[in-house]
Amino acid sequence: MKLSQRIKNVKPSATLALTALANKLKAQGVDVIGFGAGEPDFDTPEPIKEAARRAINTGKTKYTPVGGIPELKAAVCEKFKRDNALSYKPAEVTVNCGGKHSFYNLMQSILDEGDEVIVPAPYWVSYPPIIALAGGRPVIVDCPGERGFKMTPEQLSEHVTDNTRAIIINSPSNPTGSAYTRAELAALAGAIAGRDIIIVSDDIYESMLYDARTFCTMANISDELKARTIVLNGVSKAYSMTGWRIGYMAGDAAIIQAVETLQSQSTSNPTSISQWAAVEALTGDQSFIGEMMTAFTRRRSLIVDGLNRAPGISCQPPDGAFYAFPRVSGVFALPGWPAVRERYAGQANSSALCSHLLDEARVAVVPGVEFGNDEYLRLSFATSDENITRGVERICEAMQRLAG
Ligand SMILES: *Cc1c(COP(=O)(O)O)cnc(C)c1O
Repeated sequence: MKLSQRIKNVKPSATLALTALANKLKAQGVDVIGFGAGEPDFDTPEPIKEAARRAINTGKTKYTPVGGIPELKAAVCEKFKRDNALSYKPAEVTVNCGGKHSFYNLMQSILDEGDEVIVPAPYWVSYPPIIALAGGRPVIVDCPGERGFKMTPEQLSEHVTDNTRAIIINSPSNPTGSAYTRAELAALAGAIAGRDIIIVSDDIYESMLYDARTFCTMANISDELKARTIVLNGVSKAYSMTGWRIGYMAGDAAIIQAVETLQSQSTSNPTSISQWAAVEALTGDQSFIGEMMTAFTRRRSLIVDGLNRAPGISCQPPDGAFYAFPRVSGVFALPGWPAVRERYAGQANSSALCSHLLDEARVAVVPGVEFGNDEYLRLSFATSDENITRGVERICEAMQRLAG
């Protein structure tokens, strides 16, 4: 059967594919340790689950307004006020079927054929394909690890053209964990001052910062920037609710209205039951986040220290999120590397290393090339301390063998 050109150009999500492969091996009885998953390993907190059961029991099982029930829009507004000191009206927020869907809807609503979106690399795997699906052109800006994977104002100026429609800021970042300070965000904003460019701020990891860092988003810098920023967020990461599929966004009322029009002709409302669960997540007891961060803080040290013991690998502790993003270019210089290179001919270096780690060390990690930098790997530390200790040990042993 004939497929559309549009879908033929889309690459499936590499992180979802890797997680599926690791799970398949596990189901076959292979002892694989997975560092692929982009989701917290904790159970959704009980009060949130209880709110969902209550919604079912009280018949909250029908269509809702397309952009979410008024109670959830109010909870989102309340959250922005409480956590971010940002004031939005309900008409300036909308709820979608997960954060990825929020980004998808936004790109479909703001991009015309050939419009450019500036995407700092390393980037979340889904940004470029979702931009392309909307007819846009991702303009990739390489942000090296030596500068903390952060885009500089100079880089931003160099890549802006008359076709630039939007820029993406994802801080803390998936995959690098890197987070912009307020001063860095203000400097970036300066580079696009006076231009009609939308700032897309993906704040999904806002509550996951280490070492007493404080969160700041572009909308905090000034009223003028708030007016040009669409803030994306959701309950998936902060409340360990990835399966519930609730994301939301806030910003210019006309864009929000456009997103709801698109949603009215595609998914309609996000699941009614999940919406009631999200109301509880955003307005209920917030102590779950702190407990999760206590575990992530411990695991961050465990994984970073462990990786730094492996020959050829060097890892900086991330500022936020739950990913280690070690540099592995040193591995490509080890004596055993040419044989690995040959065995996985046709794959990028970081992909060949991941294949080697899966086949020889039974460890699943994601190659940096999928995020736009072939000299790195991504390891999610949203897994048990024991898995981290054992998995990192396996990686160390495999690299020692390559070191000869
Ligand atoms: C996980 C994630 C999201 C949102 O994911 P959903 O599961 O769709 O809610 C958005 N942006 C980034 C960078 C993420 O890592």
